Parts: sequence; structure tokens; C-alpha cells
Amino acid sequence: MPSLTRVEATARGAAITVESYQVDLNLTAGGDLFRSRVEIRFRATAGAATFVEVRPVTLHGVRLNDRDLDPGLHTDNRLPLDGLAEENTLVVEADMAYSKTGEGMHRFDPADGETYLYATSFLDNAQRIFAAFDQPDLKAPITLSVTAPSQWIVAGNAELAANPAPGRWEFAPSEPLATYFFSLIAGPYHVRRAEHDGVPLGIYCRRSLAEHLDADADEIFDVTRQCLDRFHQLFTERYPFGKYDQAFVPEFNAGAMENPGIVTFRDDYVFRSAVTDTEREQRATTIAHEMAHMWFGDLVTMRWWDDLWLNESFAEYLGTRVTAEANRFDQAWTTFAMRRKAWGYAADQRPSTHPIAPPEVVDAEAGLLNFDGISYAKGASVLRQLVAWLGDEAFLAGLNAHFAAHRFGNATLADLLASLSASSGRDLSDWAELWLRRPQVNTLRAEVAVDADGRYSEVAVVQTAPESYPVLRPHRIGVGRYSMDGSARRDEVDIDPNADGGRTVLGALTGEPAARLLLLNDGDLTFAKVRLDPASADAVPQVLPALTDPLARAVLWREALDATTDGERPVTGLVDLMAAALPAETEVIIAEDVLTLSRSLVDRYLDPLTRSAALARVAGTCQRLLDGAPAGQSLQLAAARGWIAATTDADLLVGWLAGRDVPAGLKVDAELRWAVLRRLVVLGAAGEAEIAIEAAADNSSTGAERAAHCRAALHDPEVKQATWEIIVRDTALSGRLLEAIAEGFWQPEQADLTAGYVDRYFAEMPAAAHLRTPWTADRVAALAFPRYAVAQSTREAAAALLARDDLTPGLRRVVTDADDDLRRALVARTAVAAASA
Ligand SMILES: [Zn+2]
Repeated sequence: MPSLTRVEATARGAAITVESYQVDLNLTAGGDLFRSRVEIRFRATAGAATFVEVRPVTLHGVRLNDRDLDPGLHTDNRLPLDGLAEENTLVVEADMAYSKTGEGMHRFDPADGETYLYATSFLDNAQRIFAAFDQPDLKAPITLSVTAPSQWIVAGNAELAANPAPGRWEFAPSEPLATYFFSLIAGPYHVRRAEHDGVPLGIYCRRSLAEHLDADADEIFDVTRQCLDRFHQLFTERYPFGKYDQAFVPEFNAGAMENPGIVTFRDDYVFRSAVTDTEREQRATTIAHEMAHMWFGDLVTMRWWDDLWLNESFAEYLGTRVTAEANRFDQAWTTFAMRRKAWGYAADQRPSTHPIAPPEVVDAEAGLLNFDGISYAKGASVLRQLVAWLGDEAFLAGLNAHFAAHRFGNATLADLLASLSASSGRDLSDWAELWLRRPQVNTLRAEVAVDADGRYSEVAVVQTAPESYPVLRPHRIGVGRYSMDGSARRDEVDIDPNADGGRTVLGALTGEPAARLLLLNDGDLTFAKVRLDPASADAVPQVLPALTDPLARAVLWREALDATTDGERPVTGLVDLMAAALPAETEVIIAEDVLTLSRSLVDRYLDPLTRSAALARVAGTCQRLLDGAPAGQSLQLAAARGWIAATTDADLLVGWLAGRDVPAGLKVDAELRWAVLRRLVVLGAAGEAEIAIEAAADNSSTGAERAAHCRAALHDPEVKQATWEIIVRDTALSGRLLEAIAEGFWQPEQADLTAGYVDRYFAEMPAAAHLRTPWTADRVAALAFPRYAVAQSTREAAAALLARDDLTPGLRRVVTDADDDLRRALVARTAVAAASA
């Protein structure tokens, strides 16, 4: 199936203007198909030719103006249109297929026999629902009508205009939309409604989750109202799409999708078990992120996918900022520093890195590859840096001018830079070149000299860049000076990219009393790796637990994790630091992410024997954190999860399932039970019988995913064989179930059992990648990669695969990145072996 190229989109964008879509869907047939009829009005140069995209099962009729076109002319996903008039009407009627991959019209059939539908048109999937000129810069109002079972709820991008008969919904014309924003939900959804500042609000979920949504409805509506108010303070343009519905839908691929007027979220955000405050914060940040898109992305849309960052970096920046400023989650920037930036730094140091704003994305499918830590987290960090440099007032004035100039239209990076330059009076071209057009990350290293009186004789920041991308950048950063008891002074300084040898001397600190610990990028304003001077590094275990600012602790933890990831320090040193500092941690996101990020290093960077000893220490640290955590609070749950994942004490785990010796205040509910069972399966202390009992007790779609993950992890050669067949061949399961299975397959404890599948991955994954849509294929390929087979032979197999010319772009990216992780793991293992020799 050809993906629309930038060249084709540019030509078509110049040739036609779309005036409106009238979309009529009939969802009553049952079975695997629905009926779609679209009437598109568009203008063109008389006599010109173009094409429209559609992916039907059966094309029933095509009529262009007064001519019937031959449906047989349809090839792949394209229908040629020639002999265009100045004013054209195209009518396409087709039977279309429901999807199980979250793309197009997804149909979910839970065990209770009810059917739930939702439409995802992103990124070029409107054509799976109706015939469309499926590119982001051909925006037009869409008028939707739907025929569906009369007892259903149906909601679309625009307000309902009429309900002329039971089972018939007719919606008002929407504002001009890019085709990738089209959405609707249809099914026996549960709904709660509210209103705020003239905006009708709705939240939706499946009926089986109704009690859980109701329990959190106040929190979700409060967050929504607070975000809406904050955006109305920041922006002069009010929310532009009428009503604001938020639907929590099953088997959703991403976190959420910013369809104007009807945002869709993965329904894991309707919490059915106890969660930590980090998960509540993440839901709030996602709500804010999608709302930010209503302006950045939806009101003003990128012209083509090469400006994807205009959407995602801004939504990520504004989503985090508005959450921190307007909601109770005032540590959202700490979460950003710990979790989101970890994603960004990792992506930016890989061989597959790319500029935030790539000069050209060749086709839509290539655009999908850039939905990564660079377009989101690095882009947002760089915007935070831009605000530190320009000042908030000039930044917001530039954004507002940008919205005013391009409302309901499209814009490019050049348009945005023009607006920001005008508002700030600064030329941003150098800044954009260094930060947006060049990949990779700088390292800022502190060099400190102290005189006999204990005063700084010199403090310098040395900026370096990787050899492959020798680019130094301007950075505005905080420099924190911390004493043993954690008390601090913080200065803001500019790092000069043109300084001699990349070395910026901080003259203002000369003669000041030397601090116990000097922290670069304190406050986390820039995107850079940080390294401490040796004296500060020695002080970390003592000073870190005393720091009162969670963001400063997060920056310090990132430094430790990053140096370990780079193989500069052994994982065992990180485990030591965790033992020293983690039991005193009070910020749940820090405890959670230090545990999960370090765990992935422990699992891959250590040989089996060293790993066992390290895991035992991690379990001990979690136990101390658990002992000190307040009963029933987030920290207790985070510590319990960390302990479950690290312990080898099967008796105690089995006891928790039976309600024995559970810490007071800790609820061993559905999700925690699955976590315990997962660990017992890996330890060989539970099998199919226990999984079946648990699955029967949790008869939900999430329960089915958890059970599938556990089964894939079973220590049984026959089960592994059957699981592998599913991973490389199945096309019937939903994308979410496939992901759960792929994720469970490899376990560090099962190296002998799975050794034979390392080669099979490289032999069989290219064909498997062609069986599925790109999103699902890439997720499965990433999760099924033999990540614990840390050996030169695995790298050689990866190299041989990458030499082939028949790989999907997604598989090429997945294997390139996973191979780079192996490279790092091998370097780290060699360093550890050398140190202990
Ligand atoms: Zn987004």
C-alpha cells in the first residue's frame, strides 16, 4: 500500500481546495463490515487530474460530478480522478472493514457481548472510514450522520444537530478539520456530562468501567476545568471547537488522540485498581496535552509531517506546564525530568537520532517513525529552554500572533519562527539551526578549583558534543550550590557555545565559599547531559537525601542513571546509591522511576550471578522504602511494586495473594495480584493453573492482557513454542493482546529456554512485520526483540538483518535502536569485568 509522499501531497495541495465532507455511516450490519458514503465538494483547475484515497472491502459506487467512474480503477488505496471541473462533487460508497489495531474504525467485543466502536483517523487512516484527500493541509468542515442501534450512544467531533428517528444521529458541520482529526464513538457507552465557562463537557467509557469512571469523575472534570481556564489565560483565542468530549476507549494504541471536540484516551486511564499519584498526574498531563493540541495542531495544523514537532513538542511543553501551574500536581516538571526526558535523551543518543525539525519527511509512514522521545520530550525541553531565553511574555505573544495569523489553517516552522521573532525582537535563525535542525545532545561537565580557604578559585562548565555531531549550543542553566544539610543557592548562567575549548568560566562564583555539591542544570531548564566534578560526585550519597527540592533530586538521579547507562560507572554503584538514598525518598515519581530505570540496567548490564546479588539488594532497598512509607499512600504502592518485581521470596508473594503478611494499608487488588503472579511465574512458582484462576476472577479485557503476558512468561518449552508462533504469525488477536504476549516472552531468568529464539527473531520478524499495520508491527518487533541476549553474536545477527533491503522502515528503526542498547550493555559488562579482574 503506497504511503502518500510529501511531493504528492504538495502537488495535490496546490491543485485542489476541499470545501466540505458529508460523511454518512451505517453501523447496523453486524459482522465485520460497515457501510460508508461520502460526498466531497472540492474546487480544482478545470481539466486537472488527481486521486482520492480509500481502503474499502467492496467499492459499490463512485460518482464524480455527473459521471459514474469505474470502481475497477481503484488500485491499492487510490482512486484516480480525472477531467475535474472548477467545482466538483465526488460521491463514494463502499463497505469498509472494522479494525482490531486501533486504526480506522476499531471494534471491540468484550465478553459481555456488547460492541464498542471508535474511530481513529490519525495518521492517514481516515481513508479506512471514508474516501478522503488524506493529508493534513486539505482542511474542510465535516458533517457526519450515523445510523446505529437505537440504544447506543453516538458522539462525533461536532455537536449533535438532530435525532430525527431512533437509531439516527445527524451532527452539525464541524469547524474546518484535517482528515486525521475525524473521530466518533458509538456503542452502549456510559456517559457523564458537565459544563464549564460555556463549554459543554462529556466523559465516556465502557459500561463495565462505569463505577470506576464515576469514582473519578470529579477529579477528571476538575482537571479539565482547571486546564481550560489556564489555557484561556495564556491564549487570546478561546477554545475553538464548541463542546469538549473526552472518551476513554478500549484497546487504544497511544495515550490519547487530540480529535477536536472528542478526544479519545486509552481506557487504562479509568483506574480499576489502586494507582499512585504519578498515574493520576499522568492522566492530568495527558488531559492537558490533548487540550493544548486544540490550539497547537487542531486550530493551526502543520502543513506536512516534517513539522510534527510543532504539534507534539508544544503539546508536551504546554501539557506539562499547565498541569504544574493549574492542577494539584505541582511537581509535573519533576516527572518530566525523570521520565519524559529519559525517553528523549535515550532517543537522541541512538544511531537513528534525527533533528527535532527534520528538513524533510518523505512520506506519511516515515512520519510515524518520528513519534518518539525527540519529537515529544526533547522538543518540549528545547521549548522550555527557549522560554528561559526569550522570556515568557515574548514567547506567549509570539504564540498568540501565530494562532491569529493561521487559525483554522496550516503553518510551518518558518511561520512560527517569524511570529516569535516579531514578538521578541530577536533573530531566532541561529537558535533554530543549532537546537531544531541538528540532532544529538551536549554534555555539560563541571570543573571546580578550591583554594586553601575553602573558596572557589575557579568554576567552569565544559561543554562537549559527540564526535559524530560536533555542535555546541547556547544553554541558559541553573547552577545549584548545596551544603551537606541540603541548603542551597542557585544562580542562572549562560553557557557560551563559542567559549574557548567549549569552556565557560563562571566568574561570579570566584571567591565564593565552596559548596559540598555543585549541580549543573539545577532547575532542569536545558536539554543536556550533566556530569559532576569529582568532589561533588563523592558527596552525592550524603547530600542527595537531604535536598528538599524534588526537581534537584531528579536532576541528580538522572546524572547517576546516565553515567551508568554510558558505562562510566558500574550498575552496582547505582544499586549502592539506591540503598543509601532511596529509602528516604518522598517523591513517588522519583522512587518509581529510579526503580524501573535501574531495573532495566540490572537486567541487561550484569551477568546472571552479579544480577542476582544486585536484585537482592534492590529488594532490600524496596523493603526499607516500604517499611517507612505511610500506609495507603502512593509511596507504599510504589515500594510494593518494586519489591514484588525484585524479590525471590515466593512464599511471601504467595502469602500476599492469600492476604497473609500484607503491609497495613496496602490493597492487594486486581493489578497488584497480577504483578505478584507475573513474578511467581518468572520464579517458576506458579503455572497455568494459577493463571487460569486469576483470569477467571478478573474477567476483563485488561485481565485478558495480563493473563496473556503471564502465559507468555511460563517456563515451559511447548508454551514458548506456541507463544512464538503467535508473535510471528497471528493476525487475529488485537494489537494490545499481541503486545502483552510479546512483552512476556523474554525473561532474563529464561536464557537457556529461549536461546533458540534469538536467531528466529532475525529470521522471522521481517515477514511478520509485513503482516500487520505499521503501529502494531513496530510495537511487537520492539517488545519481541531478544533484549537479554547480550552477546556479540546477537549484534552480528542484527547487523546481518540490517544489511537486507526488504525491511519495513519501522523494523529497521526498532532493530537499529535495540542493537545500540546491546552495544551499550556489552560495553558495560566489559567494564564491570575489567574492574573486578
Ligand atoms: Zn500529542
